Amino acid sequence: MNILVTGGAGYIGSHTVRALIAGEHRVIVLDNLSRGHTAAARGALLVRGDTSDTGLLAELFKKHKIEAVMHFAASSQVGESVREPSGYYHNNVVKGLALLDAMVQAGVPYLVFSSTAAVYGEPEEVPISEEHPTLPTNPYGATKLALESAMRWYGDAYGLRFTSLRYFNAAGADPAGDIGEDHTPETHLIPLVLQVALGNRPHLEVFGSDYPTPDGTCVRDYIHVNDLAAAHVLALDKMASGARSNIYNLGNGSGYSVLEVIKAAEEVTAKPVKVKYGARRPGDPAVLVAGSQKIRDELGWEPCFAGLHTIVDTAWRWHLGHPAGYEERNER
Ligand code: UDP
Repeated sequence: MNILVTGGAGYIGSHTVRALIAGEHRVIVLDNLSRGHTAAARGALLVRGDTSDTGLLAELFKKHKIEAVMHFAASSQVGESVREPSGYYHNNVVKGLALLDAMVQAGVPYLVFSSTAAVYGEPEEVPISEEHPTLPTNPYGATKLALESAMRWYGDAYGLRFTSLRYFNAAGADPAGDIGEDHTPETHLIPLVLQVALGNRPHLEVFGSDYPTPDGTCVRDYIHVNDLAAAHVLALDKMASGARSNIYNLGNGSGYSVLEVIKAAEEVTAKPVKVKYGARRPGDPAVLVAGSQKIRDELGWEPCFAGLHTIVDTAWRWHLGHPAGYEERNER
């Protein structure tokens, strides 16, 4: 199929672009490069632009005979969203709606949407199933939920077919080692821990050690970025063969504490990771673990990189080869 991938130069988008190309799809990436990296989108045609540019969208849909969209372009940091909700509503909701409208206008039928476990808020029970109430505790989760809600109504009224994938903690890198996680600023646990192992940071601050968990630190469900990418391709194939719109969680169903992640990183890298204990980070629930049975049953999704050591090992390969991340950052 001919597929437009918004945010295809970003972390999860670029891994999905690679999976699509491997599946013989033709990929056009639309990315404003505010956070993405040109080198990450190699293999696809990269168009620099924004989903708010409806004229550009109409032109791309027509020129490339686009049959489906995968929508990754969004702001995605919880803390930043609490400080700057306006930017999150504009980027994630207003620009997202512009994309939905352009798809309806052009008759592009399928959308795979990059959503998040942050739509659930503080869990009432774990593992979290798709039926869990959605009560986001920050604007990031709220804006992703808002677009999911719009997608449902657009589906009813205009026939748009969508699959929303609610990711837990995306991590790791393609084993090829040439694309990986590079955020500025970096806020995620695994890249930060590996930067300490590399000697690029003096220590890792553990946010809270008094949570009601076995070792007092937060527990998360880490899922390999290539397993996320594979789920996008499966979701599209399923819709193209007639499946109705749907929402799926994506995680491994196993939780690891911050200290367990640090230990795994020390084992994988054979380097010590110095730790300092700090305060809890506002908005962090103690435990987030996915119930992912639905996507296993309905799409036949199975993770290929489920173990924490495997996930950390692939991330480490990327960090070793790219200690300063993608090189074009300084040119922007
Ligand atoms: N974390 C930490 N120190 C850091 C960054 C993250 O202790 O410098 C913890 C964070 O509190 C959370 C877990 O690591 O419990 C995963 O955080 P991350 O930001 O990677 O993902 P999130 O769970 O926020 O999506």
